[in-house]
Amino acid sequence: MTARIIDGKAFAATLREKVATHAAAFAARAGRPAGLAVVLVGEDAASAVYVRSKGKATHAAGMAGFEHRLSADVSQDELIALVEALNADPAVDGILVQLPLPAHLDTDAVLLAIDPDKDVDGFHPVNAGRLATGLPGMVPCTPYGCLLLLRDVLGDLSGKDAVVIGRSTIVGKPMAALLTAESCTVTLAHSRTKDLMGHVGRADIVVAAVGRANFVKGEWLKPGATVIDVGINRTADGLVGDVDYAGALSVAGAITPVPGGVGPMTIACLLRNTLVAAHRRAGLPFDDATL
Ligand code: NAD
Repeated sequence: MTARIIDGKAFAATLREKVATHAAAFAARAGRPAGLAVVLVGEDAASAVYVRSKGKATHAAGMAGFEHRLSADVSQDELIALVEALNADPAVDGILVQLPLPAHLDTDAVLLAIDPDKDVDGFHPVNAGRLATGLPGMVPCTPYGCLLLLRDVLGDLSGKDAVVIGRSTIVGKPMAALLTAESCTVTLAHSRTKDLMGHVGRADIVVAAVGRANFVKGEWLKPGATVIDVGINRTADGLVGDVDYAGALSVAGAITPVPGGVGPMTIACLLRNTLVAAHRRAGLPFDDATL
């Protein structure tokens, strides 16, 4: 058996087109485009690349992008003042502060200052609470992208055994909450988990968000399992995921490649979240289950 390769790049391109169609309709009805503000502090090269590609994707989707670049030595008060100005700006529907922030800044305090209804990254505790309790909120982009791919491959997820490896607030925990809401039986595994291989071997769905190259081995998997590899690891062999891709190909039923799997979904879901936030703020109806 060779696993189906889940083409996240193609799926994300289609999602971005759907977002662009809805964004044009929003602009016509609201009399203004949906707007996403991105804040970059300092000169981190990787962060600058992410911010640039987010800006390009925002414009390509027909939304307004507002980029704010602050010097690496900006004070906490200045950064919070900018966030508060963006909270109050009616042209801004989504606010994203690019992480990591320089060490002298208090990341938690900055994220807490963002209006939860403009928190398109879904990192504010209010949105984590909404996700945990089933209220409409902002869902973190990467796990939401994983969910869209899983629904596309498997359809109804209810009753599936799912293992999420990694318990970060950005990926693992919200992923587990989303799969619980889909009526999966979820195991959230982490660095202290005993018998990880045993858990993985029973799972219909495996989501790996560990940050260790080729960590999950093909022979751990249940034959036919659907594998979502969130990991992005730079190695001498180039970019690789958290799953031993070559080993998994002959066991899994479907698997995301790295690159070209989960990665492209994150920005597409950021645009989707901005669109959702724009409709909610403008009081316009929008069926966000369709995207
Ligand atoms: P993190 O470092 O915050 O969390 C890693 C998790 O892995 C921790 O919860 C830890 O308990 C768990 N872990 C570590 N060693 C383990 C072990 N031996 N067994 C089981 N669990 C173990 O990482 P993160 O921010 O969640 O990111 C994870 C990976 O996903 C990274 O490679 C990151 O680059 C990638 N990532 C990709 C995207 C994307 O857009 N594709 C977005 C976010 C993160």
